[in-house]
This record gives sequence, structure tokens and C-alpha cells, in this order.
Amino acid sequence: MLEQYWALKKEAPDAVLLYRLGDFYEMFYEDAEIAAPLLGLVLTARHKDSDIEAPMCGVPQHALETYVSKLIAAGKKVAITEQTELPGKGKTIVARRIVRIVTPGTVVDSDRLEARRANEIVSVARKGGLTALATLDLSTGDFSVCTLVNGTTAAEWIARRLPREVVSFPSDRDDVAAWIASNRDAGTPETPVHSVLDAESPRGRTAADLLERHFKTATLEPFGLSSGGPDVDAAAALLHYAVITQRSECAHVASLRTENGADGLIVDGVTAGHLELFRSSREGVKGGTLLDVLDRTGTSFGARTLRRLVERPLGRRAEIEERLDAVEELVSEPALLEALVHALKEIPDLPRLASRIAVGAAGPRDLAVLAMGIERAAALSKLAAPLCSRLLAEEGEASPAAFPHVIGDTIRERLVDEPPQSSREGGLFRDGFDAAIDEIRGLRRESASILAALEAEERTRRGIPTLRVKFNQVFGHVFEVPASARGKIPEDAVRRQTLASVERYATAALAVADEKLRTADARLFERESQLFQELVNEATEAAPALLSAAARVGLLDALVSLARVARSSNWCRPHLADEPILEIADGRHPVVEAMRAREPFIPNDTALGPDARVIVLTGPNMGGKSTYLRQNALIVLLTHLGSFVPAASATVGLCDRIFTRVGASDSLARGESTFLVEMAETAHILRHATERSLVILDEVGRGTSTFDGLSLAWSIAERLHDGDLSVRATAGPARVLFATHYHELTELSLVRPAVKNRTMSVKEWNGEVVFLRKVVDGVADRSYGVQVARLAGLPESVLVRAREILANLEKQQLDVGGRPRLAERPGEPSPPVVQLDLFRGQGELVLDTIGGLDIERMTPLSALNVLSTLQIRLRGQG
Ligand code: ATP
Repeated sequence: MLEQYWALKKEAPDAVLLYRLGDFYEMFYEDAEIAAPLLGLVLTARHKDSDIEAPMCGVPQHALETYVSKLIAAGKKVAITEQTELPGKGKTIVARRIVRIVTPGTVVDSDRLEARRANEIVSVARKGGLTALATLDLSTGDFSVCTLVNGTTAAEWIARRLPREVVSFPSDRDDVAAWIASNRDAGTPETPVHSVLDAESPRGRTAADLLERHFKTATLEPFGLSSGGPDVDAAAALLHYAVITQRSECAHVASLRTENGADGLIVDGVTAGHLELFRSSREGVKGGTLLDVLDRTGTSFGARTLRRLVERPLGRRAEIEERLDAVEELVSEPALLEALVHALKEIPDLPRLASRIAVGAAGPRDLAVLAMGIERAAALSKLAAPLCSRLLAEEGEASPAAFPHVIGDTIRERLVDEPPQSSREGGLFRDGFDAAIDEIRGLRRESASILAALEAEERTRRGIPTLRVKFNQVFGHVFEVPASARGKIPEDAVRRQTLASVERYATAALAVADEKLRTADARLFERESQLFQELVNEATEAAPALLSAAARVGLLDALVSLARVARSSNWCRPHLADEPILEIADGRHPVVEAMRAREPFIPNDTALGPDARVIVLTGPNMGGKSTYLRQNALIVLLTHLGSFVPAASATVGLCDRIFTRVGASDSLARGESTFLVEMAETAHILRHATERSLVILDEVGRGTSTFDGLSLAWSIAERLHDGDLSVRATAGPARVLFATHYHELTELSLVRPAVKNRTMSVKEWNGEVVFLRKVVDGVADRSYGVQVARLAGLPESVLVRAREILANLEKQQLDVGGRPRLAERPGEPSPPVVQLDLFRGQGELVLDTIGGLDIERMTPLSALNVLSTLQIRLRGQG
């Protein structure tokens, strides 16, 4: 047995091997030592049913899924072995093989997958200075590849997509592995697992051959792959990895999409975080993300499609218009929309079912659910038939006829109405479907009545009313009697097992019946397995057609969801423009509005264009600046994904990227300060922004001293306004929304014509601020920070003192010694001179002092005194 174990282990050296032994999966040696603490199991040293001595632990067969999930969650790979034949007489050891290697990125079992989210694995390949990444969702067969452009790094790309697992070639020691390791060490949630491909992973010509063989094509041109490029390597390596782990041909991976890295609106990981597209900054808040607001899908594959639409907003005008047409058509057909919503709710996760079947991980119940799903999806397609916008029109793959009805009918004809979860349980097929099965079943029925008769007879003969016939994997059928009845067992009986509470034995007659039944069982098992495999093969053949039909249903579901939101929240269809403009009337923040259902959300306008490229937005704390900034970014994003937008009207000049720099976020775990993170993000923006970009800057330059921060904010805004064509031909002026508390920044409009000042209006009433949350032309006179601090519950005495200091600051007064009069209290003498100005230049000090003089109230004598003090200081005597 150990020989067999080590042979299997060699096939999957980096996985924890689960070795099937009777009703258990056992782990041995190092695997057991790794797994025991993760699974909360006790390590033992000796196996009870065999003579193996080794550290070991095991899990019962019925709980396999739970334990595998735990190992996967801990980032381990798991190789599952099964017995491939029933134990029988004369067999010393039953055959076993690895049926599947489960890794975080290649999971196909529904209970280990997030229903509403894709489970992707990404491979990275580099060649000749180019980097390509292939992405595969094995649970749905969705496979794509893209080559990076515009200086995007693999790590940036992965941060945007957040796959579960990343695989790379052993020779490519690269930034990806380092990036994953640093994120894992910093405890960043959703960090992918990193695996290194085995040395035999195909590259170059071998890689192209592998893909051509898999897709049964003579060239790779239909997929738009460049011959000899890194994209071929990335795709082939990933497919190879999938085939190896699944131990299946992965026939459901029937196509490969080439995504153009330059297509589509780019929303980097940082921006996706700041805009709270998928994760809310407030942990545990339900409905706090854009996706939460948009997702009213009925099926989980529709939910995944919708998420993909948000993850990968479109770039080309024609494609966006096509989606908008479809959403508009659905919006304009409320009755049909409702009917579709109801029909969608009934449809199971077809892509994941089909994929599970194709990789051989599905049971009979999955097939039955698939058949039911096909029927319902086909009915849905009929319902959608009247729709005529291009994306929804009933043509090609979208037509109901494209659903592989035949396989659905075949499954229904063969399988019983409620088949078991696993094919090992037996009883899969309908009576009358297969003559061999019917015959064996007849025999079993007969044997079963023979057993019942034997039981009754033995009971009366021995006078043990509690005697029962029991079945046991090792001993077969036995009579089981309580220990108290031991004395009544006949001398010639074969004792099978003596336990403390019961005794098990067999008689000659029982052994004969057992033999008959057991051979019947084995034959039935074999026949049912064979027929089940045939059915699985037929379903696998239909998988590609089914997957593409299901993809249409998923898209329909996502579009229906967008249409429902548009209707219920009163959104409008945006107009697209090619010029760099953004004109919004009565725009709203989709998430803030949805979360504040009871209070009205104040809509606001936006006008960005060649004459107003940079908007400097000032206003009080809590005034709504951040909300306004984000709502504009979200409206642009929604437009690019083909959705209606929360506004009365919107004209959106198409963008290439949205950048955001919002708030202060320390990355302490990675040893980066708030200010460093802030500047790194800003540097990234300055390097990549073009005249087609939208840039959102919220309080840039806050993490340092006022003068440093203001200077930086000013020069950053200037650069974005002017663009820098010396960097790149496309680095023209961007569209910028800049919120700031540096009121001085509003003076930028005096020197830069396309900078416009806007402010969040407030009213002051009885010393309190009233936020109107309306954006108006102009400049805020102050930040009302002290008033807002009161709302936050700062002690009154602290607030009073803050007001005093604020008054001093606003007067910008300095005392005779050149010190700011911050600390002064009205009516109190000046504090003694302390050497605050130790490090300041004398010249600067003199200027500051003169600047702070209140000439009108000075006498000639006091003026002379000041002059004398300054002279003494300048001569270095002060
Ligand atoms: P700070 O300068 O302190 O960061 P801010 O000006 O960026 O503040 P926000 O955080 O955008 O202010 O908004 C403050 C609060 O006002 C939020 O709770 C938000 O829900 C609410 N709010 C913002 N805009 C609106 C609006 N247009 N209508 C109604 N409520 C709004």
C-alpha cells in the first residue's frame, strides 16, 4: 500500500494527498503534520486497519468537502485519490488514482465557490520585454488572455482583477511573486495564492501546439494570438495547469478571448477601492458598494457577469452604445422586464454545472439540475424573443434553439426523478432504461427477500427477538445480536466480530445470500458507473454549446438588473461625446443616495470642458465635497459599462482612465507613511494621466506641513491643467476635480484660465453651520472645521480655545519677536520670549515681523523700537 501511496504522491508532490482508505481519506507523514493543526485533527502513529506506522490523520468520506475547503482556505493544494474498483475477494490492494487536484484557483465544487463571483486563476508569461496574462475561470470555462500595454505592470493588473491564484514560470522570478508575498505578509484581504508552474509547462512552439490541439484548430489566428508571443505561453501554461489538476481534458474550455489591454476604461485597484466599487470602506455595511446597488440579478451567473461588466468597463463608443440600447429597450418594456425577472430567478447556475460535469466532478443530481436548468433557460429565451436591440435580438447563439435541448431530454429520460448526489450511491437510472440494470435489480430484490426470510428464521430459531441482519464493508452481511445473547449463537456459526455490546456472526445460508448480493452489487455498480460515464460524456460534448448559450442568459440577467435599477432609481441614459467634456445636470451619488433612503439627496451639476478643465472645490468639512467628487467619477464609470446614470441628464466625453487620490490611508503594515502613500499615488497619476483621463483629487498634500502641502497641491494642479507634452504626446491637460481645504489654491484661477472655483454652500445660523450640499460658483470663505468638530462632540472648552487661536491665525499676527501670536489669549500679556524661531533665517524673520506690524496704530517711538530690535537681531545679538 505504501508503494502505491508514494507513486501517487510523486504525481502531486506539492499537494496534500488524501488517500482513500475504506470510508476515510487518510493523510500520512509530512502531509499529516501540515494538515492536522489546520483541520483540528489528532495525529496518530498507527493505522488501525493496516500495519502502517507513520504520522497520520484522516477525515471521514462524508465530510470530505468541508475538510478540503479548510485546506484550500489555508492556501494549500489538495490531491484527492479514489478507489477505482470495489474491494473483492482475492484482491490484495484495490486500484487508486488521483481524481482531482484542488487548488484555490481551480475549484469547481459549488460549495467552495462564491456564487456571485468568478473564481479566476491567472498565469503570467514574459518574452522579449512583453508581459502577457491569461485568465481562466475553470468553474465556468471562461478563458482569456491579454498583453499588457501603456507601462501597466503585471502586479497592477492583478491588483485590479484579484484572482484567487497566480501561476508563473519557475524561471520568471518577478515582481508578481514579490507583490503577492508582500501583500500576504501585510495581511491584505483577498491576496491571491502564488504557485510555480512545473518545469514541463509548455513554452514557444510546444505551447502553440498544445493550444491548437485543445481547440482543434490548425493555427491560433482565430484567437488573435501573436505567434511566438508571451500570450501563447501564458494561455498554454494555464490550460496545462488546469488539465493536470483536474485530470480531465477540460473540454468545456472551448474558446479563448483575446482582450486588448488598451481597450476599455482603466480603473486601477486604488481607484476601485476609493470609489468603493466592490468593497465598502465601512466593514460589514450592507449595500455600501456600487456593485451592491447595481446587482439585482436573478441568477448567480448573471451576478458574476454583472461584476465583470463593472470590473471591465468598455472603451469603444460603439460597444457602449450597444449596451445602452439594450438597457434602454428593457427599461421601456416594464411588463416584459418583470416577466424576465421572474423567469431568471428559477434558473440554476448553468455554467458551473456544465463545467463540473466536463471535468468529471459532477454527480447524478448535478445532471438532473442541469436538465431542469436547460428547460427553464430555453423558456426564458422564448420570453425574450420579442426584444430587438442588437445585444438582445433573437439571433445566432441567443436564440432558444441554441440551447442543447437534446442533452436535457436525454438526462430526463434516463435518470430517476430525484437521483442521488453521488453515483456511488447507486439507484441512478429509471427502470426500463437498461435491460442489464433491470435484471440485476430483480436479483437484488430477490436476495433482499431471502435476507429478510433468513433474519426472521434465525430470530425464531435462536429465540433472539432483537437479532438483525447488518451489512459491513469488511465482513459483508452478518447477524448482529446483543452481547447478552452471545450464548445462544450456534456452534457452527462463523464468528465475524466480537464487540463489547454486540456479537456479529454468519451462518452458511447467510454467507451464500451475501455472496449473491455482493456480486450483484458489484455488477450493478459497474453497470451504473459505465452508463453514468456515458451520460457525462454526452453532456460534456454539449458543454461548449451550453456555456455559450448560458453566457447570453448571464448577460441578459446583468442587463435586466441594470434596467431595473435605472427604472426604480430614476436614472437617465447618458449621451456619449468624443470631446473631453463632462456635463451633468442634477447628478447624484448612487450609493449614498440608496443608503439614505429617508433623507433627500441634493443633486448637483457638473461642467467640465476645454474652458473648465480643473475645478477647485472648497467648502466646509462635511459639506459633501468627497461625495460630489466620487459621484462624478461613478457617473463616468457607469457610462462606460453601458449603464444608465443617476442624473437628470449627462453628456460624458469618453475617458481612457479614471484616477483617484482620496483621503489619507496609511499602509503601516508595509512600512509606508500616509504621506508617502499619498505622494506615490499622485506620482502615478501624473505619470499616466492623458487628455482623455478624469482625475479626482481629494485633499492632496494634507499629510505634511501646510506650506509643503499647499506648494505641492498647487504645482500638481498646475501640471494637470497644463499637461506635459514633453512626457508623452498624449499627456495633454486632463479633466480634474480637486477638493481642498487650502483656500489659497483657489487663486490658481487667476493665473490659469481653465481653473474654475466651486464651493459647497453652507448657511451659518446662530453660530451653527447648516450644510446645503449644493455646489455653487465661488470660493468658500472658511472650512468651519471648529463647528464640525462640535458636531463630533469635542469638549466645549477645547472648542472655545480653538476659536481663540483661529482668530489669531486669521489675523495673521506676529509679535514683535516675529513669533506667531497663536498662543495669545485676549487680555493676557504676551508669553515670555521662547526661541521658537531658532531655526528660521534672520531675513525671513525681519520680513515676517514687518508684515505683522499694525502701522496705523503705531507711534513713531514704537516704530523706532521695532527697528532697533530688528537691527540687533540682524547683527546677531538677539
Ligand atoms: P470632509 O472635508 O470632512 O472630508 P466632505 O466635504 O468631503 O467632508 P462628504 O464626506 O462628502 O463631505 O459628505 C459628508 C456627509 O454629507 C456624508 O455623510 C454624506 O452622506 C452627506 N452628503 C454629501 N453630499 C450630499 C448630498 N448631495 N445630499 C445629501 N447628503 C449628502
